[in-house]
Amino acid sequence: MIYDVAVIGGGPSGLMAAIAAAEQGAKTILIEKGNKLGKKLEISGGGRCNVTSRLPKEEIIKHIPGNGRFLYSAFSVFDNEDIISFFEELGVPLKEEDHGRMFPVSNSAKDVVQALINQLTSLGAEIKLQSPVSAIDFGAEQHTVILASGLKLSSKSIIIAAGGKAVPHTGSTGDAYPWAKKAGHTITDLYPTEVPLRSNQAFIKDRTLQGLALRNVTLSVKDQFDKTLVSHRMDMLFTHFGISGPAVLRCSQYAVKLLKGGQDQVKLLIDAYPDLNEEQLYQQLKQQFVKSATKSIKNSLKGLVPERYLTFLLDKNKIATDLKAANISQEALRRLIKDIKAFEVWIYDSLPIEKAFVTGGGVSIKEVSPTTMASKLLDRLFFCGEVLDIHGYTGGYNITAALVTGRIAGQNAAWHAY
Ligand SMILES: Cc1cc2nc3c(=O)[nH]c(=O)nc-3n(C[C@H](O)[C@H](O)[C@H](O)COP(=O)(O)OP(=O)(O)OC[C@H]3O[C@@H](n4cnc5c(N)ncnc54)[C@H](O)[C@@H]3O)c2cc1C
Repeated sequence: MIYDVAVIGGGPSGLMAAIAAAEQGAKTILIEKGNKLGKKLEISGGGRCNVTSRLPKEEIIKHIPGNGRFLYSAFSVFDNEDIISFFEELGVPLKEEDHGRMFPVSNSAKDVVQALINQLTSLGAEIKLQSPVSAIDFGAEQHTVILASGLKLSSKSIIIAAGGKAVPHTGSTGDAYPWAKKAGHTITDLYPTEVPLRSNQAFIKDRTLQGLALRNVTLSVKDQFDKTLVSHRMDMLFTHFGISGPAVLRCSQYAVKLLKGGQDQVKLLIDAYPDLNEEQLYQQLKQQFVKSATKSIKNSLKGLVPERYLTFLLDKNKIATDLKAANISQEALRRLIKDIKAFEVWIYDSLPIEKAFVTGGGVSIKEVSPTTMASKLLDRLFFCGEVLDIHGYTGGYNITAALVTGRIAGQNAAWHAY
């Protein structure tokens, strides 16, 4: 038997691609290596599944720093608002949370995955679980998918939706890159993105700040010329190996790229009081110290930054915590403010790609049509999702990219099969 469309990979991109192909009446099969579909989708967004974002399209593209602009054409056919309507029609209403993030009202990622599976089944598509694909033979009339079991399946169109290399226990182990290469495609450098960062500074090694969360700080990445490459104002966390948390994840790809470019260490700056500049903070604290002259410096600065961080910064600057506020020297106060506003964290590495949330790099977008997701090199071969060289910040942007590219790939794979 020859299928019209064979989709390899049952993540969000593959599920959506198979649905879109089956909706067009194509004889569709979804082939998944694992024993269940949507494993990564189920653990995304802390198990609640951050399906998409309600931000305007322009903003969504901005939040996909890895080739987000490639998605403009696809977005004109199927965008975030279409994703929201799509799930509502499947009986999974979504609700908006902070930063435009959209979650199922039920707070259950399982509902999202199940709705996709139900829809796929009701459209009559075949689902083949526990069927790892080991190779693809590309042909002029049809392609042949070869399973690890030795079984061969023929299909007119093939959609590769096998994901990247991040968090491999979900099934995404980078299997698809050799298939794409075989078809003549370029795989751009693969690297971890949305990944915690390692530092070997003394305060990390001796775990002084381990477990401390800083809320709503501005984290910046500096390049070799001390120019700010990117800044993000969000929460962050000190860990036993370095730093993590939303601001760090967002900044991580820039640090990773500088390290890959040959820098031994990359400087990140933490601004723990972003609402005022250094001089404004200096003036504010000086006035404050006049009012609380007899209080200890530690007490009079209470609430400015978390107490543990303050103690650490006072200690670092050799300012006794019980020093009377009035007695702090101008020079010591300036040094303290410098650290509150621009504390240096030096990064020497990130956690490996397996521990990253998202894979940077992948099938080069230069060789894929942005309007159809079709290979420009080989007929009736399509790509969607994280296997492509597209990566966004966490916050629903990767899942949006996966669903949108999946939708386009599925429709076009079906049309090209006839
Ligand atoms: C913990 C975690 C949290 C995340 N949170 C967010 C978030 O909040 N917002 C966001 O936008 N993104 C988030 N992401 C990223 C997002 O989940 C992925 O970008 C998205 O799942 C990619 O979809 P995909 O369909 O391309 O690939 P995947 O979801 O990786 O699916 C690929 C599928 O292909 C299958 N496969 C692989 N090889 C083969 C083979 N040889 N044969 C058959 N099948 C194969 C795999 O088993 C897998 O099921 C998170 C990721 C993780 C790990």
